[in-house]
Amino acid sequence: MTDKMTDSTRRVPLIVANWKMNLTASEAAAFAARFLPRMQPHVEDLGTRFEVAIAPAYPALERLGQALKDSKIQLAAQNLHCEESGAFTGEVSLAMLEDLECDFALIGHSERRQIFGELDDVIAAKARRLEGSSVCPILCVGETLDQRERDATLAVVGSQLSAVLDATGDGLASQLVVAYEPVWAIGTGRTATPEMAQAVHAAIRKTLVSRLGEVGHGTRILYGGSVKPSNARELLSQPDVDGALVGGASLDPDSFAKLALASLETS
Ligand code: PEP
Repeated sequence: MTDKMTDSTRRVPLIVANWKMNLTASEAAAFAARFLPRMQPHVEDLGTRFEVAIAPAYPALERLGQALKDSKIQLAAQNLHCEESGAFTGEVSLAMLEDLECDFALIGHSERRQIFGELDDVIAAKARRLEGSSVCPILCVGETLDQRERDATLAVVGSQLSAVLDATGDGLASQLVVAYEPVWAIGTGRTATPEMAQAVHAAIRKTLVSRLGEVGHGTRILYGGSVKPSNARELLSQPDVDGALVGGASLDPDSFAKLALASLETS
């Protein structure tokens, strides 16, 4: 029995689409109309043998949420602000995501870190905001190419993870999902080999177990970075790869359906 399948901490694979700044609300509804029939034959397995979530841009959240109702496909946000409410022009609060019945929110995506300058303390504050709420954080961590070449991968990923674990308590532990996304693999077509991914996932698992105890065995660790139908099965077969966060290949309903179903074969 692999670590993936221990009884008390069985980790149901989770495949998450990150649409980034793509697809309007109308396009999201059209996507759902093509995607949902492909999931329909597997509806009995959704939620028990695999889980699927989609993170559209904010303007499409409500329309996509309506389209996904009763489908067991979950809704995710790409970000949120750490404050409860107030004068933060252009931002979106947890209450707004809860009102739309979002199941997950990405925090710390490398594009937020690199393009928008989000630092670990802001990401930790977002995690604190989500603690105990109905929206589960998907905390993204990952090293740049330069950091990997300097052999700093585990130190970088470890400190990104610790920044959030240090700032939060037991309330977050059971909700937390971690996504390991090497920055050099995002949107580049370069993918970590399954062995490279597993090595980092195993280190993340070790930290989670040492910090959270038994709960850490149940925390899902997703891999992200140019995941496609052609490489998904191999990545998802690794013992500590519990799902995928998918950008480019999630924009096409056929390709995302293939990816989602690949997780069924490895669960
Ligand atoms: C991402 O942005 O989270 C991602 C993994 O993108 P891609 O699949 O396009 O590399």
